[in-house]
Amino acid sequence: MKNILLIATGGTIASTEDGHGLSPELSGEELAACVPEIEGLCHLDVVQPMNIDSTNMRPSDWMRIRDVIVEGYDDHDGFLILHGTDTMAYTAAALSYLIQDSPKPIVLTGSQRPMTNPFTDAKLNLYQSLLWAVDDRAHDVAIVFGGLAIAGTRARKQRTMSANAFISVNYPPLAYIRNDRIVRSGTMVSLPPVQRTPRFYHHLDSRVTVLKLTPGLTPHVFELLKPDYDGIILETFGLGGIPEYADGPSFKDAIFDWVDSGRTLVMTTQVPEEGLDLGVYEVGRAYAEHPGILRGDDMTTEALVAKTMWALGQSRDASTIEHLFYQLIHHDRLTAE
Ligand code: ASP
Repeated sequence: MKNILLIATGGTIASTEDGHGLSPELSGEELAACVPEIEGLCHLDVVQPMNIDSTNMRPSDWMRIRDVIVEGYDDHDGFLILHGTDTMAYTAAALSYLIQDSPKPIVLTGSQRPMTNPFTDAKLNLYQSLLWAVDDRAHDVAIVFGGLAIAGTRARKQRTMSANAFISVNYPPLAYIRNDRIVRSGTMVSLPPVQRTPRFYHHLDSRVTVLKLTPGLTPHVFELLKPDYDGIILETFGLGGIPEYADGPSFKDAIFDWVDSGRTLVMTTQVPEEGLDLGVYEVGRAYAEHPGILRGDDMTTEALVAKTMWALGQSRDASTIEHLFYQLIHHDRLTAE
C-alpha cells in the first residue's frame, strides 16, 4: 500500500460555523476520519503546518508547504494538500515552479462546502485526490477537484459556489475522474512512466503583483508601485492593447521606465481565455520588441505571478530571468523559446 503525506492547511473543507462566519477548525486527522474508504486505498501520514482560510495564504506559506514536502519526500509516494479554494490555483502554480519534474504526485484539493455540511463535496474530492495520489502514472503538481485533474500551472477558480469550481485554462484537463475511475484524455493516455529526479527550488521574490488596466487608468500607478514591487503582471485589453491617450501622461514612457530601471514587466490579457498576441494591433506592437518586457502568451495570471516570483527569486540578471521565464514548465505555456 502506498504511503501518502496529507498536508492539511485549512480552507472551507476544514471549516465550521461559530456564529462569526466559517473558519477552519477541523484537523487533518479529523478530516481523514470522515472518509473511511481511505483505509483501503493508502497509508496516510498527516501534518498540519497551518489551519487558515486560504485568503490569508502568502508566498511565505507556500514555502512552508514546500518545506514539508521536501522533508517528507523520500518517505512518501505522493502528497495531498488540503487547501482553501480561493487561492489554491496560486499555491498549485507556486509549487509547480518550486518542485519541478517530480515523479511523485503532489495533489491539492479542498471543497466548496465544509466537510460537516450535509451536502458537502469534500468527501468525493478527498477520495478522488487520493486516487490520483496513489496512481502509478500521476506525477508533478495537480489540482483534483469536482471530478477533474488539472495541471498545477493551468488551474483557475471559476465558480464561487458550485462543486465544479475549477477549470483548466487554455489546456485540456489531465484527466476526468468518474467515481473511482481515472479517465485520461488524448495524448495523456500514452505517456510513459516517469523516471525523473525532482528539482527543488529555495527562493521566491514575493515583490510581484498584478495590475489590471481599466479605461482611464493613469500611468502614474507605475511610480506608486515602484517602492514595493520588482515585477508587475500587466493585464492588458484583448490581444494586448495598452492605451496611449492623446492628452495626459504616456503609458509607453511609464512602462519603458519601469523595465529600464531594472524591474520586470510581464504582459498578459484580462480576457479569460486564449491568451495574448502583442504583434497584431498597433496599440500593442510598440511593446513587443522592447527589452525587458516579457510575454505571458497563453499562461494563466496565477501561473504568471508564481513563475515571475520564481524567476526573480533565482536571479537579478535580466537575460537569466528571461531565459527562466520562457522555459516550458509542467504544461504552463504552449511553447518554450
Ligand atoms: N475562503 C475559503 C478558502 O479559500 C474558500 C474555500 O476554501 O472554498 O479558504
